[in-house]
Amino acid sequence: MTTKPFIIDGSTLEGGGQILRNTITYSALLGKPVTIRNIRTGRAQPGLKSQHAAGILLAAEICNASHSGVSIGSEQVTFVPRSKLPTSSSFTADALTAGSTTLLFQVALPILLLASSSEPITLTLKGGTNALLAPQIDYTRHVFLPFLHTQFHLPSPSQIEIQVDRRGYYPRGGGQLTCTIQPLSGSPLSPINLLERGDLIGVEGVSHVKGLPLLLAKNMAKGAVSSLTSSSSLGEVQVDIKSVKEEPTPQGEKGAKAAGPGSGIVLWAGTSTGCLFGGSAVGKKGVDPGKVGAQAAEELMRGLRWGSAEPVSQELAPNGEAQGRPCVDEYTQDQIIIFMALAKGASAVRTGPLTLHTKTAIWVAEQMTDAKFDVTKEDANGLCVIRCQGVGLAASQNLGR
Ligand code: ATP
Repeated sequence: MTTKPFIIDGSTLEGGGQILRNTITYSALLGKPVTIRNIRTGRAQPGLKSQHAAGILLAAEICNASHSGVSIGSEQVTFVPRSKLPTSSSFTADALTAGSTTLLFQVALPILLLASSSEPITLTLKGGTNALLAPQIDYTRHVFLPFLHTQFHLPSPSQIEIQVDRRGYYPRGGGQLTCTIQPLSGSPLSPINLLERGDLIGVEGVSHVKGLPLLLAKNMAKGAVSSLTSSSSLGEVQVDIKSVKEEPTPQGEKGAKAAGPGSGIVLWAGTSTGCLFGGSAVGKKGVDPGKVGAQAAEELMRGLRWGSAEPVSQELAPNGEAQGRPCVDEYTQDQIIIFMALAKGASAVRTGPLTLHTKTAIWVAEQMTDAKFDVTKEDANGLCVIRCQGVGLAASQNLGR
C-alpha cells in the first residue's frame, strides 16, 4: 500500500529554499513521502534553482527516493523515500552554478549523521564555496561544525570533517568540498543545553582570495582588525586573522570547471562556554577591501550584541545577577533547529530574537515530526530561550526500520 504524500506549503513564512531542504531531510530520515507545493513562489525567480534541485537529487540518491517535479523552475516536488539509509558510502552533488555547496551539505548532513551505517560516508559537493546569502565554507567549518560537535556532544571531535579542495566564487562556481561524516551508529543525537554565553576568549578569521593578489586578502584582514579593535566593548581579546591565496583552477583540472577569481572574509569569536559567533563578507570588484573586512567585523559585533542592551561585556541586572546574553548568532540559530528536533529529549538555547528563517525551521520541524518547540521571551530587546522536546531519532528508527 502506498502512503499518500504529506503536503507542505513551501510559501509559508520565509518561503525560500530552506523549507525545501528541511522538508526533504525529514522525509528521507523518517521515510515519510512528501509533496512540497508553492516552492519559492514569492521569489523573483520562483521555483527550484539549480542548487535546490541538486540538493533534492542528492537526498534522493542517499535514500533511493522516487521523485517528480525536480527540474529548474518547478514549483511542486514529490519525494518518496524507498530504502534503508544510506544506499552507498560515497555521494556526489553538483550545483552546476555558483549555488552554495554548504546548502547542499545542509540537506545531507542530518541524513548521513543518523544513517544506519558504521562506516564513514564521503560526500563530494561542487559549486560555490563562498557565496552571498549562504554560509561561506569557512563559517560552516569554523563556526557551525565546531558548535555542533561541542554543544550536541558528538562522540568524536572528527565526526564530521570538511576539506576544501578548491574554492568557487560567484558567478562561475567551480568549487569543491570533500566531506566525511561518521554516522552515530544507532545512537540518537544528544540535546543541546546552552544558556550561558561565558567570556569572550578571542577572535579568529580567514581572509581569502583566489586568482587575485594576496594584498587584497591582507587589506580585508586589516579592515576587520581595525574595526574590531576600535570597538571598546570587545575589550582586550586577541584577534588573529590569516590571509590565504589560492591559485585559479584551470579548466579540466581533475574534472574541474574553470573557477573564476574571488575573495571574502570570515571571522569567528569563541567564548568560555563553547559559544561561537560568525561574521562574514564577500569581496566585490571596485569595493575597498578594507570596507569588506569592516563589514564582516560589524556582522560579528552585531551577533555578539544581538538581543541584549549591552552585549559584549557582561551586564548586571539591578539585583546584581548577570543578565542573559545570546549564545548563538542569527545564522546558527536557524541551522540548529533541525538538530534540536531530531535530538533525544529536552534542548534549550538562549538567543536573540527569532529570525524568519528560524520561525520557518520550527514550523517545518513541527509539521514533519512530533518535536515540540516553545519560545520564551526574556526582555524587551528580544532575548529569548528556544526550548525543544526532540524526537530522539536513531538509525534503527529511520528508513532502516
Ligand atoms: P532562497 O533563494 O529562496 O532564499 P536559499 O536556498 O538560497 O533560498 P535560504 O532559504 O534563504 O536560502 O537559506 C539560507 C541559509 O543560509 C540559512 O540557513 C541561513 O542561516 C544561511 N546563511 C545566510 N547567510 C549567511 C551568512 N552570512 N553566514 C552564515 N549563514 C548564512
